[in-house]
Amino acid sequence: MNNDTSFALRVLKERCTGCGLCADTCAYNAIKFADVPEIDSYACRLCGSCVQACPAGALQISEPETGKTAVPQEETKGIWVLAEVEDGCLAPVARELLGKAVVLSEKLHHDVEAVLIGGNVSACASELIAYGARRVRIVEHESLAAFIEENYACELVRLVRECRPEILLVGATPRGRGLSARMAALLQTGLTADCTELDIDSDTGLLLQIRPAFGGNLMATIKTPAHRPQMASVRPGVMKASEPDYSRSGEVVYADVSKVSSDRRIRLIRETVEASCGDSLENSRIVVGIGRGVKSLDMVNRIREWAARFGAVVAGSRAAVEAGLIDAHMQVGQTGHAISPDLYIAIGISGQIQHTAALAGAKKIIAINPDRTAPIFGIADYGWAVSAEEALSQLTAGGL
Ligand SMILES: Cc1cc2nc3c(=O)[nH]c(=O)nc-3n(C[C@H](O)[C@H](O)[C@H](O)COP(=O)(O)OP(=O)(O)OC[C@H]3O[C@@H](n4cnc5c(N)ncnc54)[C@H](O)[C@@H]3O)c2cc1C
Ligand code: SF4
Ligand code: SF4
Repeated sequence: MNNDTSFALRVLKERCTGCGLCADTCAYNAIKFADVPEIDSYACRLCGSCVQACPAGALQISEPETGKTAVPQEETKGIWVLAEVEDGCLAPVARELLGKAVVLSEKLHHDVEAVLIGGNVSACASELIAYGARRVRIVEHESLAAFIEENYACELVRLVRECRPEILLVGATPRGRGLSARMAALLQTGLTADCTELDIDSDTGLLLQIRPAFGGNLMATIKTPAHRPQMASVRPGVMKASEPDYSRSGEVVYADVSKVSSDRRIRLIRETVEASCGDSLENSRIVVGIGRGVKSLDMVNRIREWAARFGAVVAGSRAAVEAGLIDAHMQVGQTGHAISPDLYIAIGISGQIQHTAALAGAKKIIAINPDRTAPIFGIADYGWAVSAEEALSQLTAGGL
């Protein structure tokens, strides 16, 4: 039991009648009952069920006070990267986040640490050290083998409260998005999602969390002055990993998993792997982007056949997704994937900021669009002002 008096859920003992309803209601076993309820702040997810269940109004969840931190600032140390593992391999975004964390640590003079969580993840520790982690913290337990967001968040929050990192970076992957938001709520700290740049304020030492705002029309710089850790998520492909150095040494620390608990409301019945076309946008060297200007599925299929000849993956704009030309999971842009291929060929794409914001890492861009004034030509290295039909006929006739 943790008697953290700064914890957001409080029992107003003078009102409590001792009925015990709150303990029966809590799905997380976070309330131990003697004469009055005692809250285990490590186990509590602040779901609010007990507050609603209490007939005497004896439970209260308070809003964090400005300037008061759940994790005291003066004691924080370390720039942490939550390293996601997929099928036993490190997710590429973990390497990218480490590259940025190393740059930040040179300005902030905090150690870079990586956190691994799962059923059998320790084999990835040496790779994290090679990519820049001074220390790898491992939360390993068989009950964490399957990703259950609530359970992962509970264990990670426990670790954060114990070790008090200054900064926590998370990949904005399908898993990382939900997990980081849940953790930030439990830790009562701020989280800036989908940052495209991170820096350190030279005056205050605060993390500058930079991301597009207002539909991508301006860049916002967000700070977390009063709460810790400062949390930011970054999409895969936005930042660059540094070169690994396997001669580097680092420390591996195993977290105490004797208190690992599972959310009683969630039971894993089975896992099903969704069939996918196998195209991986993040790792593709050549991507062909299809826009609304491509107009028909017949043209999309012709472009697919052409792209297959040189191993390109076919993706598209949101308008192309909405028109049913491309699967939603292959959308490039602010609300889709950020990509950094060697070559991006945009066909029938106008080049609105919400699309092009995700192309910052592309080395070369070729635009094909009959409208010479289309904004895509403003960022393209090479432009061809013809229709998709015309371009494809010429390219295939020329043997390309
Ligand atoms: C909050 C928000 C988030 C968004 N997120 C995304 C996102 O993640 N990704 C994204 O892509 N968009 C996103 N959008 C939408 C974005 O603003 C644009 O509407 C979208 O990118 C336009 O897609 P497009 O270029 O395919 O279509 P259009 O803008 O309609 O452009 C079609 C182009 O095709 C050209 N064309 C016409 N005929 C032909 C032809 N025969 N051959 C070749 N070209 C032709 C036209 O000249 C035109 O330039 C978002 C918008 C908002 C508000
Ligand atoms: S807020 Fe939710 S998790 Fe926390 S003690 Fe109450 S019922 Fe349990
Ligand atoms: S439900 Fe309310 S009154 Fe009953 S034991 Fe819990 S806090 Fe006390």
